[in-house]
Amino acid sequence: MQLVNLKVASEQVSFLQAVRTGLGQQQGLFFPTEWPKLDCDALLALPLVERSTEIMQALFGDELSQDDIRQMVQQAFTFPAPLHPVKADVFCLELFHGPTLAFKDFGGRFMAQALAKAQQQQKVTIVTATSGDTGAAVAQAFYRQPGVQVVILYPKGKISSLQEKLFSTLGENITSVAIEGDFDQCQALVKQVFDQQELVQRLNINSANSINISRLLAQVCYYFEALAQVPAERRKDVVFAVPSGNFGNVTAGLIAKALGLPFKRMVAATNINDTVPRYWREGQWLPKATQATLSNAMDISAPNNWPRVEALLEQGIIQRHELEAVAVDEDDTQLGMRQLAADGYISEPHAAVAYKALKRSLQSGEIGIFLGTAHPAKFKEQVENILGCPIALPSVLAKCQAEPSLSKELPADFAALQQLLNELDPDA
Ligand SMILES: *Cc1c(COP(=O)(O)O)cnc(C)c1O
Repeated sequence: MQLVNLKVASEQVSFLQAVRTGLGQQQGLFFPTEWPKLDCDALLALPLVERSTEIMQALFGDELSQDDIRQMVQQAFTFPAPLHPVKADVFCLELFHGPTLAFKDFGGRFMAQALAKAQQQQKVTIVTATSGDTGAAVAQAFYRQPGVQVVILYPKGKISSLQEKLFSTLGENITSVAIEGDFDQCQALVKQVFDQQELVQRLNINSANSINISRLLAQVCYYFEALAQVPAERRKDVVFAVPSGNFGNVTAGLIAKALGLPFKRMVAATNINDTVPRYWREGQWLPKATQATLSNAMDISAPNNWPRVEALLEQGIIQRHELEAVAVDEDDTQLGMRQLAADGYISEPHAAVAYKALKRSLQSGEIGIFLGTAHPAKFKEQVENILGCPIALPSVLAKCQAEPSLSKELPADFAALQQLLNELDPDA
């Protein structure tokens, strides 16, 4: 697999190099310029692990053996992604049955596998920003792995307490840092780290954000899994609605389309942090200050993966009419949760944003699939307040809820972060 730096076209890397480096020169993202066309009918007849192995093999089989790839997929995808019927022709693709109850488990766990292949035996420090769910998925995927230090930055007070407890209680090789700022500031700090050549090399720093191509390729696989659950003759009518923050999930869906997955179109749904919907409508990229919402994992106004979406459009791989961008406000998000509950489906704010966007966009004859990106229990308080019904905690959440948070606090200041990184025990 050949990837180019979208800012510095002369920088070209292989899949494993892109996994190892994360971000290219001038903070450019790595992305392929060509995609193989897959035999999707045959693929959709296979079970998840076999199918995903074949998809990955078609993408980077020139760099790893089929046995290696199968083993990576097997270790990463240990839980299902069922399509849950909500009403006639509307389904939720439930991506929250992994160990940390969010879709980030697919990418986080697969990245851990890919990084092990890319790094060989070297020590590595993973520095990542989380808007809520990446932190837990990445922390769990690398917890107690020898030679790996993980530093997780998150916006203090801006993620749900259960989201926080899922990673801040682990300790050992997981350092969690509450930043006095919003997610965009956390993400900017991570990017600044990558500008420090000496530091990056000394600590062998990597990022586990959706900057890393391995996460996106893992996510491609569940779009296939969704369509495999739709009768063959209806697949071409499917519209996916994706609750979007950093636009990694949307990028993965568009990659699936580039590979030939025969669905109709995608709706990118944001909350009131609507940089992309405004850009889509008005043609101007004008991020505003990030606002806190119920769907906190999407409180992002400078989405990192957008240049990849632009690349797919500019290269003519994806057509403009195959993507729509819709913003959903807070009242509508709550309304979506209540409407879903009235149909017997308890959901949470992120999925509800996608559901409302889907309802606005869906035409007759189409099948709508919105992505359930997190388990409702991760947002227990909000969900109970809005729906007025009690939410039971799955055992992983009940367990970490009772444990103390081990987070450190830092200002949104690079010097402070640099000091913390320098103090990490390199031999731990
Ligand atoms: C991360 C996250 C999103 C946003 O996904 P992107 O790939 O960043 O667009 C949506 N919902 C939940 C629950 C998340 O954790």
